Amino acid sequence: MTQATRTEGRCPWLREAIAPGECDAPALTGDRRADVCIVGGGLAGLWTAIEIKRRDPACAVTIVEADICGGGASGRNSGMVLSQWAKFAALTRFCGIDGALRLAEAFARSPGEIAAFCQAQGIDAEYRQDGWIWGASCAAHIGSWSGILDSLEAAGRRPFREVSREEIAALAGTDAFYAGIHDPSAGTIHPGKLVRGLRRVALAMGVVIHENTPMTRLVRGPRPAVVTASGTLRAERIILTLNAWSLAIRELRDAILVIASDDAVTAPVPDRLERAGYLDKPLISDSQTFVTGYRTTGNRRINAGVTGGRLGFGSFRGQRFEGPSLREAAIRASIARGHPSLGDIPLVESWYGPIDRTRSGLPLFGCLPGSSDIFYGYGFSGNGIATTPIGGRILASLALGTSDEWSGCGLVRAPERWLPPEPIRYIGAHMVRAAIARQDRLAYAGETPGFITRRLAALAPGGITTSDAT
Ligand SMILES: Cc1cc2nc3c(=O)[nH]c(=O)nc-3n(C[C@H](O)[C@H](O)[C@H](O)COP(=O)(O)OP(=O)(O)OC[C@H]3O[C@@H](n4cnc5c(N)ncnc54)[C@H](O)[C@@H]3O)c2cc1C
Repeated sequence: MTQATRTEGRCPWLREAIAPGECDAPALTGDRRADVCIVGGGLAGLWTAIEIKRRDPACAVTIVEADICGGGASGRNSGMVLSQWAKFAALTRFCGIDGALRLAEAFARSPGEIAAFCQAQGIDAEYRQDGWIWGASCAAHIGSWSGILDSLEAAGRRPFREVSREEIAALAGTDAFYAGIHDPSAGTIHPGKLVRGLRRVALAMGVVIHENTPMTRLVRGPRPAVVTASGTLRAERIILTLNAWSLAIRELRDAILVIASDDAVTAPVPDRLERAGYLDKPLISDSQTFVTGYRTTGNRRINAGVTGGRLGFGSFRGQRFEGPSLREAAIRASIARGHPSLGDIPLVESWYGPIDRTRSGLPLFGCLPGSSDIFYGYGFSGNGIATTPIGGRILASLALGTSDEWSGCGLVRAPERWLPPEPIRYIGAHMVRAAIARQDRLAYAGETPGFITRRLAALAPGGITTSDAT
């Protein structure tokens, strides 16, 4: 039985994207079969399904989703579509220089390819290529990007341009940043319309979707299956694209740290944006370890976000990280720091969602140890929009058994085991989080954190950039 898609309690992106009268896809009932079953209907799962169908239209693909497609992080993010050049050092460690360049270039093409895909498929996802400024909002942060520029320079690539305070003012209407770098290829998108548009395309291509169907058990071994409360799906191959919920998979539990990002929007403020010189201008992020950033939306709101929120515990089973954010003050402070003239605009709504951070900040893919027909893609680490389409290609190649540049790339590797078991992980993560927050605070006061704070903060997993811990 289908039910009207719930909009109540969902963030504005999803409310705007869910059409009136839209219904959920039917839940799984009884015993079913598929060639490929994808568990998790976010961006990663949907791009993978679409890619498999594109390559092999006869392949029977089913998506099993606990909530609705896009109900996880994919419909709740800030819609910043960023290349991965800032993680080039980590890419090089995993893939060597040539492999890193190939992947970094693929990630860099991704924003344009998403825009072209949306246009071809009639998805009005409000993509705007306004560029990205990564700035220093205090003196201590000036040059945070130097190491990245050096490693890119050594590889002969210059995707970023260093920009002065005056140049940032000309680009974005604010002289609050001391300096920064500018990537003109980045953009913004409406996350709700993107993910719900992908769902529509997947359905039109013949992908079977079961929503409100949490997998309760994964059957490993020669006849893999996804067991749910009211049915079982047997498949030749199973792909797990579960983001934070990968913690429920014992083989992946030590590989990711789950931590929330929090977002909020103002009401539409076109006149204020116009006066501030920030209409259709670059998205902006700062250089804190717990990075904060903001952008404008198609309907002229400011959408801002902060990282480093609530921590996930244990297997994360039953946890959804839904509801209003408790960090609205930090979100407003981030707008006020970057654009002081916009800092008084009230936030009208806030929310938060879970992020699956790997140590490097890069997504990883592979085959579940001991189960040659079960594949995983996890760790999009807060940068999933531009990386999930590439992840979809990697997972499609793995699941279809195709030997190519995707299945052979350096991001295909065994799950990393870098985190301790609970409750040590949860307690330790709180300590590291507190140290990072302290380090970020002290930077604005012009003070240097002590040895212990620095050592603990250095354990942070990757976010927009790669981590010192890798
Ligand atoms: C507040 C916030 C802001 C962000 N901002 C940005 C940004 O500006 N730019 C950017 O690139 N990225 C951003 N991200 C990150 C981005 O949203 C993610 O990297 C991306 O959505 C990951 O896609 P996914 O498909 O892996 O995860 P998800 O969209 O979370 O999909 C996983 C799906 O699995 C489902 N699931 C879980 N358990 C089960 C189960 N047992 N059975 C079946 N299904 C299950 C979930 O319901 C969910 O729909 C942000 C994230 C958040 C939370």
